[in-house]
Amino acid sequence: MRAASIQPARVRFAPSPTGFLHLGGLRTALFDWLYARHTGGQFILRIEDTDQKRFNPASLENLMRSLRWLGLDWDEGPDVGGPHAPYIQSERRKLYQHYASWLIAQGKAYRCYTSEEELEELRARGLPYDRRHRDLTPAAQAALEAEGRSAVIRFAAPLSGSTTVHDAIRGPITVETHSVVDPVLLKSDGLPTYHLAVVVDDHLMGITHVLRGEEWIPSAPLHQLLFDAFGWEAPIFVHLPVILDPSGKGKMSKRKSVVDGREFSPFVHDYMEGGYLPDAMFNFLANMGWSYDGEREIFTREEAVERFEVTDISPKATALPFGKLDWMNGVYIRQRAPAQLHAELVPYVAAGLGIEARELAQDRRLVELVPLIQERIKVLSEATALVDWAFVPADQIVYPDPSLLIGKKLTAAESLAVLAHCAELVGSVEPFEVSVLEAAFRSQAEKMAIKLGSFLTPVRVALTGRAVSPPLFESMHVLGRAESLRRMANAMAALRAVE
Ligand code: GLU
Repeated sequence: MRAASIQPARVRFAPSPTGFLHLGGLRTALFDWLYARHTGGQFILRIEDTDQKRFNPASLENLMRSLRWLGLDWDEGPDVGGPHAPYIQSERRKLYQHYASWLIAQGKAYRCYTSEEELEELRARGLPYDRRHRDLTPAAQAALEAEGRSAVIRFAAPLSGSTTVHDAIRGPITVETHSVVDPVLLKSDGLPTYHLAVVVDDHLMGITHVLRGEEWIPSAPLHQLLFDAFGWEAPIFVHLPVILDPSGKGKMSKRKSVVDGREFSPFVHDYMEGGYLPDAMFNFLANMGWSYDGEREIFTREEAVERFEVTDISPKATALPFGKLDWMNGVYIRQRAPAQLHAELVPYVAAGLGIEARELAQDRRLVELVPLIQERIKVLSEATALVDWAFVPADQIVYPDPSLLIGKKLTAAESLAVLAHCAELVGSVEPFEVSVLEAAFRSQAEKMAIKLGSFLTPVRVALTGRAVSPPLFESMHVLGRAESLRRMANAMAALRAVE
């Protein structure tokens, strides 16, 4: 039971749909979700698309798919609506215009007519904006208007004193206020900058906690000043630690790279397609800056929800432990009930085999194979390579090197004899069951005085085309009597050819 004293939090994930969601963004969303669920509050998805030049429509779809995949359901958002709709900033432009005008009326913002070229001149000299239009007389303003210049609206930030942002995990962050040099709030196209939109929306949407990457710390004093200018209470800020590249060198890049000889992708969709279980990814990311109890690395969603406190987040940046993700995914795969794992594997194996998922879902062979490979895969996409032999027609199992069919310390003739005896057993044992097959094979090996390992090699290679396979008698059962016999006959023919 949740303690009655916890205030339901309203938290938002506010991505800019400019590219594909990466692991850092997903971690932010995860922490948002955990805190909302922990407090019995709401998780809100808000799309910050005010930078229309960088807007990429495919990224919105990618983003929602990735969040859904991880199981982060939102209570309010562009698709589900909510009391503060719309949740897409470009559809809220009138609101921002209203609040920018209100600030002008209060003398807390002003129209600035400085042209791009004039700003460029300042930049070239290493200078910030010089507040040149902050105190224009009405006549001077009218003259600039008459020139046909377009205007932006800038914040008239206080010129003295200091500003403090209270960060729940970092403590107070204080800056000299004059370092905030009248940032643009509304662009000449009538769209707000991130700063105005984020403050207006966090207020109007009743956001209680702002969780976002630490790269936003430099913007936080400006946001605090804007909240003050509007006379609104600021939310609690929680600037999450940056996730470093797996190499530990610098911030995680937004491109693929090679780590320990393996490709590392920062993009969530590569993990969705690569066969990672959402539960494993959830658990993995929850450990990035938060810890269940300082020791346990594996925990369920429910356990994380139960314990998650923003104040327990560490502000310290850590490198993404990429290798651990595979290990953790393997742990989750082994914990799966075979029926669920089967359902999860079907799309991967079907794609790998190039057949219809619907057809494969009905295929008894995969049902039987799942428990046989469950211990051996770390990601779902590895399964095809372990089971494909079962789905190949007998005449397509080729023995590129028939010498593989020869058991250790056996001759080709002896291996042929083994295969012949085994084929007889496969043809006759009743019932055709794993334990019965195993007993019959063991006693045949003893009769021929051949070590079981060498004895089984010709059979294993005959049935699967390879020297390493899932457990042999189970594999035989997967194939069935007739198919096993066909393969053994083919193998004998291949051996005879080299004898
Ligand atoms: N739109 C910003 C981003 O892309 C959101 C920052 C915030 O959460 O305030 O990351």
